[in-house]
Amino acid sequence: MEHKIYIVGMGPGREGLMTGDALEALEQSDVIIGYTVYLDLLGERFRGKELLSTPMRQEEERCRMCFEEAEKGKQAALVCSGDAGIYGMASLMYEIGKAYPETELVVIPGITAASSGAALLGAPLNHDFCVVSLSDLLTPWDKIEKRLKAAAEGDFAIVLYNPSSRKRKDYLARACDILLGRIEPGRPCGTVENIGREGTESSVCTLQELRDKEVNMFTTVFIGNSTSEIVDGKLITKRGYPSERAAKGPAGSRNGI
Ligand code: SAH
Repeated sequence: MEHKIYIVGMGPGREGLMTGDALEALEQSDVIIGYTVYLDLLGERFRGKELLSTPMRQEEERCRMCFEEAEKGKQAALVCSGDAGIYGMASLMYEIGKAYPETELVVIPGITAASSGAALLGAPLNHDFCVVSLSDLLTPWDKIEKRLKAAAEGDFAIVLYNPSSRKRKDYLARACDILLGRIEPGRPCGTVENIGREGTESSVCTLQELRDKEVNMFTTVFIGNSTSEIVDGKLITKRGYPSERAAKGPAGSRNGI
């Protein structure tokens, strides 16, 4: 292969939550390409690099820009928040890369919001879980509904990405209404906002309360499974160890139902 492009997951925001490999790939790059918000988050350390961007929604142009820069002989890196392969641009890079057979793509994993958010809340994902994005920009809403129902049926802990945007104010309420048809209203839930960035906040609530909670495009939402509990303000999903089982009351009694 003549050229190489790094596809870098930069984690939720601050440098401490980036992997050593991600930092090294960026250090080795001549040009770093990404959405402006992420380039800004990279901070001083990479100010000396050539930084290129395209506006939001121009993802294809951003990807093509990477291949064009690589063809000029530069080492290019594309940055995505969290993990580039989780609602990120890694797959689009492989798609566009079909036209550039001389370019090798190297994906560097990053800490996704499910993981960094879970850490802030305690241990909400300590058993089987599903991740569902509420954005219907690229996925029809009826498919999203189907996945939410299936996640509830399977008693998965659930993480919701993209719970809201300027145009989609009521999507979290709509998702909660679907879940409330299958899950008791007292089910422990949590939200985290601005992980690894200024204004980090996390809080716990019930599924019923979650329905009317204000969230934004920098919020990640967690819904517990039937074993989840709120312990000292933390959202904990049990793994099923003997002492966890001993601590559990009769089925369904913990959440006020
Ligand atoms: N590739 C990213 C996800 C992009 S989708 C990742 O792996 O984390 C965008 C959604 O991710 C947001 O709407 C939000 O739900 C979540 N998210 C991304 N960064 C976040 C952060 N710093 N704090 C809270 N949620 C975040």
